[in-house]
Amino acid sequence: MSEPSLAGLSLAGRTVLVHSPGPRVAETVHALVSSGATVTVLLAASDPIVSDLADRRLAAVVHGSLTAQLIGEYDVVLRDGAASVPSPAPVPSDAPGEVVLVGGGPGAPGLLTVDAVRALERADVVVTDRLAPVAVLDRLGPEVEVIHVGKIPRGESTPQETINRLLVEHARAGLRVVRLKGGDSFVFGRGGEEWIACAQAGVSVRVVPGVSSALAAPALAGIPLTHRSLTQGFAVVSGHVAPDDPRSDVDWAALARSGLTLVILMGIATLEAITRTLIDAGMSPDTPAATIENAAVTGQRAVRARLDAIAKSTQSEGVRAPAVTVVGPVVDTLPEVGK
Ligand code: SAH
Repeated sequence: MSEPSLAGLSLAGRTVLVHSPGPRVAETVHALVSSGATVTVLLAASDPIVSDLADRRLAAVVHGSLTAQLIGEYDVVLRDGAASVPSPAPVPSDAPGEVVLVGGGPGAPGLLTVDAVRALERADVVVTDRLAPVAVLDRLGPEVEVIHVGKIPRGESTPQETINRLLVEHARAGLRVVRLKGGDSFVFGRGGEEWIACAQAGVSVRVVPGVSSALAAPALAGIPLTHRSLTQGFAVVSGHVAPDDPRSDVDWAALARSGLTLVILMGIATLEAITRTLIDAGMSPDTPAATIENAAVTGQRAVRARLDAIAKSTQSEGVRAPAVTVVGPVVDTLPEVGK
């Protein structure tokens, strides 16, 4: 039997039998499944990798050898490793308009996801924030309209209602709209509001998750947010209003007692009040802390100090937004590279 060529073949909805599984069978099955195929692996003897794939419902397993009857039961039969699997079919250009809420990561083009890049490559219009990885927009063709709606801290910004209207109007005109955000759209990104606005207007909307600065900034500073024996979790909170501000609904005292690593976004201006509140609520003043400014982009740096000194250090070092502060014993866990 000759092996089918998969080039140009859409596997969505097809049944595929993979026989003679080799050492890369997991990759083959994952690729087939992500192309929309329903996969069965034919095994002559038991195989722990295939059993794991079956346990995770990625593939069914049949035992035995390849027979004409078996071949007749599947749309496609291939020997493992015989052909590469095509990537998902591109969306046809006459598809109706849609809005894709794309999380762009903390600002470095390398931290965009593959799906984010694909969405950008297909976009007719990109509505972008200033903390998004704006550099990638330079690669878009001249026919793509780029609209900047960035919020400069305490400066000019486009009202959210105007942004919502921009998204809806362009999608209704049949255009593919990417709403490009820094980090993840659903982490302090107002992605929920934009989703609701699209849904209420009957506009198709989907989300591409992004690498949040809440995760990226600590990681790039060599701080694991969890570490066995130190903490069993972390909490991500906004510090945009101080704890004693009537608009604050964060229970800082509970966080101080939680044993969790704290990750504070938008907290530079309020850091003094936040750290004081945490210490007053019983958190040890010598808890390690770090503030990471401009994670993943030019000027990245980290300022480290004890909890009772981090606000002063951050201020004296001239740290400005965007910055993330991490509080907890994990801050001191990893040896700094080069020391
Ligand atoms: N949706 C974003 C957060 C938006 S709120 C995300 O998931 O990352 C804006 C805050 O994010 C900033 O005030 C800062 O606290 C943090 N931030 C965003 N980009 C950052 C970066 N490159 N370095 C450090 N902090 C960043």
